[in-house]
Amino acid sequence: MDDLLQKLKDLVNESNRIVAFTGAGISSESGIPTYRGTGGLWSKYDPSIYANIDFFLRDSTYYWNFFRDERHPMLKQAKPNAAHYALVQLEKRGKISRIITQNIDGLHQMAGHSYVIELHGNARKILCLHCDKTFTIDEVYEKLKQELPPKCSCGGNLKPNVIFFGESLPQDALEEATLVANNCDLFLVLGSSLVVYPAANLPEIAKKENAALVIINIDPTPLDDIADIVIHKSASKVLSEVV
Ligand code: NAD
Repeated sequence: MDDLLQKLKDLVNESNRIVAFTGAGISSESGIPTYRGTGGLWSKYDPSIYANIDFFLRDSTYYWNFFRDERHPMLKQAKPNAAHYALVQLEKRGKISRIITQNIDGLHQMAGHSYVIELHGNARKILCLHCDKTFTIDEVYEKLKQELPPKCSCGGNLKPNVIFFGESLPQDALEEATLVANNCDLFLVLGSSLVVYPAANLPEIAKKENAALVIINIDPTPLDDIADIVIHKSASKVLSEVV
């Protein structure tokens, strides 16, 4: 481990265009459960009901009950952890060119990044599907005390600003992520199982363009074999050491 950590420190020292690509694992120590694995959200909530766009458009009451009981309290209590703050430090030192996240929790911004590429949206924003008006999670939480499902004042249905299964990723975010992956010197994966596509293509794109690939994830990933450094440890512990 000491050798790997030293190798990682050297690589970070030599790099000036690092892309940090984060997944649910970076936020697990902030109290937000991952989807997969032991204790993952999907072991309690069936994703074909709670995260599928066709189901949501047919009957959103399941989702809004989940929002009231799980998501809203979870987003309210979650705070960035040492891994989020370590990335802010690396950005201040001019090391990071971009943060790309699959997370929907907004914790990178709360830690201090002014700009983050969000591939799967942000659960802290809720949109009216009819007039595009936006609401905070607290506003919708209040609405839910009166009506289920909650409605906009125009009568339109509401939807969290996140990508459900069955929806395409936002094209502009994906294009920008591909561009920065093409132009980085180090692609740093933090807490992602790398099984959700097309996001999981990005490390391969970076590697093909001769960037170094580092994967820090507790469990093995399908891309471990092509990475220059793989560390199966907590992202916060490893990043704190590096910084
Ligand atoms: P995932 O749930 O598929 O995998 C998470 C990975 O993180 C696992 O392989 C696990 O071994 C690892 N991990 C857990 N704790 C860790 C830690 N402290 N340090 C390092 N690694 C750790 O997550 P994913 O790859 O991001 O899956 C993609 C989907 O999950 C995305 O669509 C994302 O929107 C969604 N998601 C987001 C959040 C969030 O916003 N915080 C939470 C759950 C799921």
